[in-house]
Amino acid sequence: MNLLIVEDEPNVVSVISRGLTGEGFSVSVAPDGLIGAQMAKNNSFDLIILDIMLPGINGLELCKIIKNEKPDVPIIMLTALGTTENIVTGLDNGADDYIVKPFKFEELFARIRMLLRRYSGIVNSDQIINIADLYINVTAKTVKRNDVEIILTATEYRLLEFMAKNKSKILSRIDILESVWDIDFNLGTNVVDVYVNYLRKKIDKPSDQKLIHTVVGLGYVLKDK
Ligand code: CA
Repeated sequence: MNLLIVEDEPNVVSVISRGLTGEGFSVSVAPDGLIGAQMAKNNSFDLIILDIMLPGINGLELCKIIKNEKPDVPIIMLTALGTTENIVTGLDNGADDYIVKPFKFEELFARIRMLLRRYSGIVNSDQIINIADLYINVTAKTVKRNDVEIILTATEYRLLEFMAKNKSKILSRIDILESVWDIDFNLGTNVVDVYVNYLRKKIDKPSDQKLIHTVVGLGYVLKDK
C-alpha cells in the first residue's frame, strides 16, 4: 500500500510516517500543496492524507483538485482547526474523512484501515457470495441457506457480509466492530459476541455444517472447512 502525506509540519510527518512504515505501508511525503498536487497526479496512491494549512495550495483546494482527477483515491484531511466550517468545506470538496489535531496515531490508523477496506470492498459483477450452501445476494441483501431464505436484521446482514467477504480470515472483535458498526469505540466489543450469536442461531443452528467459528483469544472466522 502506497500512501501520500501532504503536510508541512515535520513533527506531524514524522509521527505519521514512522507509524505507517511500522505497519508495513510505504509512505511518500510532500511538504507543500504544489508538490503534493504534482505527486498525487503522477503516482498512484492507495490513500492520501492532507493537511489543510499548507504552503502553496491549501489542503481544501488540493483535495478538490485530486478528487477531480482521481475520484477513487480516498482522502483524509488533517486539521488543527476543528471548526465545523472547515470540516464541512473539506467534506464538500470530496474528503472521505477528517481528523482533528492533535490526534493519536492509533486513531488515524483506524480511519485509514476503515477507508481502505471500504474502497476495496467493491463487489464483483455477479454480486453473489457463495460459501458451502450459504448464498448471499449482495445486491438484494438477501441470504439463503440450503435454499431457505433467512431473514436478518440490517446489522446481522452487515456482519454476515463482512465475515463472508473475509472468508477463512480470522477477524478480531475490533476489526468487526470497525467495519460493521463504523467507528464507535463506546459500544464495547461484547456487542460483537452478542451479534455473532444472533447470526449463529439463524445461519448455523438449522444446519449440520457450522460456518461461523470462534477462535479463542483472537476472534471469529467464517469458513466452510
Ligand atoms: Ca500545516
